[in-house]
Amino acid sequence: MNENPVLLVTGGSRGIGAAVSLKAAAAGWRVLVNYVANREAADAVVAAIRNAGGDASAVAADTGTEAGIAAIFAAVDQTYGRLDGLVNNAGVVDQTARVEDMSRERLERMFAINVIGKIRCASEAVKRMSTARGGFGGSIVNISSMAAVLGSPGQYVDYAASKGAIDTFTIGLAREVVSEGIRVNGVRPGVIETDIHASGGLPDRAWDMASSIPMQRPGRADEVADAVLYLLSNQASYVTGSIMNVSGGR
Ligand code: NAP
Repeated sequence: MNENPVLLVTGGSRGIGAAVSLKAAAAGWRVLVNYVANREAADAVVAAIRNAGGDASAVAADTGTEAGIAAIFAAVDQTYGRLDGLVNNAGVVDQTARVEDMSRERLERMFAINVIGKIRCASEAVKRMSTARGGFGGSIVNISSMAAVLGSPGQYVDYAASKGAIDTFTIGLAREVVSEGIRVNGVRPGVIETDIHASGGLPDRAWDMASSIPMQRPGRADEVADAVLYLLSNQASYVTGSIMNVSGGR
């Protein structure tokens, strides 16, 4: 029986989630890569892991829906039968806009994916990890954003507010499950070079913002992944309820 730990990465097909999936597999995790639409990208991550001798599979599901959450955790149970780590990464921005121009539909989508989806994934993970429920314990890393602190005025204040909610959730959940063998931490990436900026209508945003970043450059997905891997690992055995900025000093 393969006893290597099992990691679920939501939004693991591209950007930060793909970098986490690849690094986690190299560190010995078996990885379930969730994605919502880009099957080609998810298959490429899974193939890269398998070609390097690792164990990975992919599950298509929308973390913003209950049906999606059910599909993800059915895959966890059926494919691996255990869960040791969750990287709560799937997240979206929307077109840049001022708050007075944000529709209810926009806010509902944003919070369904960025907040409710993450809380629901964490709650399903806790059910499987908690030593109080017969699990082996585990580690959860929530991907927040420096936007939680900076507020993103004129761009995506709704997104920033969704990340603020995730920071508070990280602190509360960490304290709630600390005696059940589960550590819960967060990572706040700064401006990272991924496709997310194009999805908000600003494909050059990362480098356009370079002069506002103390390090004068955007970060790379693999630099965020290194922080996530640390928090997942036993090297962080005394770290819970902590939120690490990975932002080039921003
Ligand atoms: P990205 O390059 O746009 O990739 C997004 C990933 O999430 C893709 O794998 C996508 O799947 C998946 N996804 C999107 N909506 C989903 C849903 N409803 N259900 C399941 N999967 C979904 O994004 P990224 O820049 O890597 O961002 C990842 C996380 O980091 C997000 O939480 C984001 O808020 C946070 N973050 C990013 C930055 C930055 O500058 N890039 C900064 C701070 C925080 P498909 O491939 O199928 O579309």
